[in-house]
Amino acid sequence: MPIVCGKDFSFLDANQAARQLFPALNTLLPGETIEQVKQFENKSELCLLIDGKVKFYKITQTSILQNNKISAICIVLHDITDKENELKNLYEKATFDPLMHIYNRATFFDLADFMLNSDKAKNRSYALLMIDLDHFKLVNDTYTHSCGDIVLETIAAIVKDHFFQNDIVGRYGGEEIVVLLEGISVKQAIDKVETLRKSIEDTIITYQENKLCITVSIGIAHSPAGSAHLLDDMLVQADSALYKAKNSGRNRTWLYGESPD
Ligand code: GH3
Ligand code: MG
Ligand code: MG
Repeated sequence: MPIVCGKDFSFLDANQAARQLFPALNTLLPGETIEQVKQFENKSELCLLIDGKVKFYKITQTSILQNNKISAICIVLHDITDKENELKNLYEKATFDPLMHIYNRATFFDLADFMLNSDKAKNRSYALLMIDLDHFKLVNDTYTHSCGDIVLETIAAIVKDHFFQNDIVGRYGGEEIVVLLEGISVKQAIDKVETLRKSIEDTIITYQENKLCITVSIGIAHSPAGSAHLLDDMLVQADSALYKAKNSGRNRTWLYGESPD
């Protein structure tokens, strides 16, 4: 959809599609400045909300020369909405787990590595949580795999909502979720994890006429400020703490290095 204007962005002509996109063009007289178009002078892309839908356009500007001098500018808006949406879908598929709607394993590792190796990481403390549903196989076996999927989706949403936006929440394996928390003391981590564990315990998940109570066990690894924050070591520690939480009765949190009561 081209709009032709003078080099000072004064209106010369526009086709029907451009006039539909910018109705103000219909009231302009040749020679009047196109304010709406002038603002795109240094932009190569444009995002518009049209009839409640987000549309994306690529903008190209071509100078029209006459006697080697710019006599006019032809601005063309190319509708790239389908391409943008396709890219967004591909990005989401490559980044998130489709069932839990949290980061997939590969993205979790990339983001966690980046966070732990940043310049400011040295002076910060971190906690890594490994969360595993208790007796989840029984849920699948008793109520079907579809019910199990709903449970996983629900628990993942509770976990994600429990933490700050810059904390990294990902699917580690089948029914295991990992979380990396930044700038958190041991006590804060334990308190935060305990409230999460309790809120999951208190949630009733309805599947058909059944009401399910799900619990989780959580292993915590803490890496204090000043120490080398090694993701692999933290994962091993959190996994070992999770094992302790399972063996001491499930539905509990366990800090790595903590001795039994
Ligand atoms: P524990 O308390 O020791 O963790 O017992 P559990 O039954 O939860 O442990 P186990 O590792 O034996 O079971 C994990 C189950 O998770 C087995 C597997 O079928 C199920 N699972 C893994 N991924 C999915 C999934 O995407 N959907 C569903 N519905 N189930 C899944
Ligand atoms: Mg389990
Ligand atoms: Mg498991």
